[in-house]
Amino acid sequence: MPSIAIAWFRRDLRLHDHPALTATIEAADVVIPLFVFDETLLGGRFASANRTWFMRESVAGLSRALAERGAALRLVVGRPADVVPAFACETGATQVFVTRDAAPYGRRRDRELAHRLAADGVTMRARRGLYVHEPDEVLTRDGRPFTVYSPFRRAWEALERRPVLAAPDRIPGPATGARRRDPIPEVPPPTADRALIPVPGEAAARDRLAAWLARGVDGYADTRNRLDDEDGTSRLSQDLRWGLLSPLEIVERADGAGEGRRVFTGEVVWREFYAHVLWHYPRVLHEPFQEAFAGLRVADDPAALEAWAAGRTGYPIVDAAMRQLRASGFVHNRARMIAASFLAKDLLLGYRLGEAEFMRHLTDGDVASNNGGWQWTASTGTDPQPYFRIFNPVLQGRRFDPDGAYVRRWVPELALVPGARIHEPWTMTADEQTAARVRIGTDYPAPIVDHPSARERALAAYAAARVAAQ
Ligand code: FAD
Repeated sequence: MPSIAIAWFRRDLRLHDHPALTATIEAADVVIPLFVFDETLLGGRFASANRTWFMRESVAGLSRALAERGAALRLVVGRPADVVPAFACETGATQVFVTRDAAPYGRRRDRELAHRLAADGVTMRARRGLYVHEPDEVLTRDGRPFTVYSPFRRAWEALERRPVLAAPDRIPGPATGARRRDPIPEVPPPTADRALIPVPGEAAARDRLAAWLARGVDGYADTRNRLDDEDGTSRLSQDLRWGLLSPLEIVERADGAGEGRRVFTGEVVWREFYAHVLWHYPRVLHEPFQEAFAGLRVADDPAALEAWAAGRTGYPIVDAAMRQLRASGFVHNRARMIAASFLAKDLLLGYRLGEAEFMRHLTDGDVASNNGGWQWTASTGTDPQPYFRIFNPVLQGRRFDPDGAYVRRWVPELALVPGARIHEPWTMTADEQTAARVRIGTDYPAPIVDHPSARERALAAYAAARVAAQ
């Protein structure tokens, strides 16, 4: 009897550097690749048409690549806890290989499944692959988790790395139907403009990585904060989110001399830091890491939330960020920080509302990085920005989008506003507004809050929360 094993793909939709796939091929005579359209996740708290569409198209690419190498991808819709044991029983598999997951939902799912499968005599085996170093591997000298990035990075760098694995040339699929692919369920179209979403799938992601390493990474230290430079960052976040690329392969290939490469690797380490934080402190998904701010008195202002989400706050740099989010399912990191700071501090709305809005749209939406980014900006997280540091949207705009190209791209009603006024269009005289063909308050909103007063309100609220917690 040939031994049969399942390679169950989740957020690791690639063939290159895939330890779980390599292990499946080594362990069994017959390999059956599987993907589950998980109804719990697709309809859950953080459901997103953009992300689901990107995932579906990437699964389609994986299915083609697997069939070319001899093993068609099987596809099942349902709850993994129900469908995976049934699938193992139907195919006669005795082992299920997966890439180890790190977020609370995935960890719970895998624990439950390992028990269920074991009851049927099927072994579940997890291999690394979503991170360079697993979230529970990087620890202080006395074995504790880190809550500050810099020492985390030093410990991360000191750990030895495994070798990068090649993609398998051939995968031994079942004798019958090895190349007959299961149809992949249709999903609703993305809410963002498809033309603005990077092409899904491993092949396109590998092209993006190659182009970035050839042309972008060496200048990254200078370009990464420039909102007007669309090629200033790698645009690989959705590829990392869905495992189209292995972070280990990225880091190994980016290794080399120069500040750009060092800073770039440091950003990939931020991703690992936030996965580490979520692994050790899963409570951050429900409450501020800094307990002192659990009692922060936030505003109840649905109209302000709606204006923020729709990109109609009257602050061009904030509005450009939020319109980029809706139009493309992506936002530049600097703009994420500015928009998040505006929601959490200027509008004092409570970061969880913004965290959810980002997750609704981002193709790279990742519970660990998104929560980490929001809590950092709201000054409630591990290693946060100090609470008294509040981004000034006008100064941020002038510094990181000096000619206003980013604003003009995403807020077209301001296209003709002169550079000197682009980040504070409400200061234009009536004549200047006529010349720029925009009426502030009519064609484009006047600021919904006055930044200096909003800043004072935020400082008072944060200070009061700290006093109350003492
Ligand atoms: P690059 O600048 O080229 O960086 C390379 C890679 O490093 C990225 O692809 C990403 O995987 C990782 N990275 C970079 N910066 C960070 C960071 N600050 N935290 C964690 N990882 C980082 N990133 C996500 O992948 N998913 C999210 O849901 C997410 N939500 C965020 C929310 C807020 C409020 C903030 C401030 C940041 C968030 N980030 C998130 C981090 C960052 O904004 C994006 O990873 C980055 O903008 C992606 O663009 P890029 O691929 O061109 O990044």
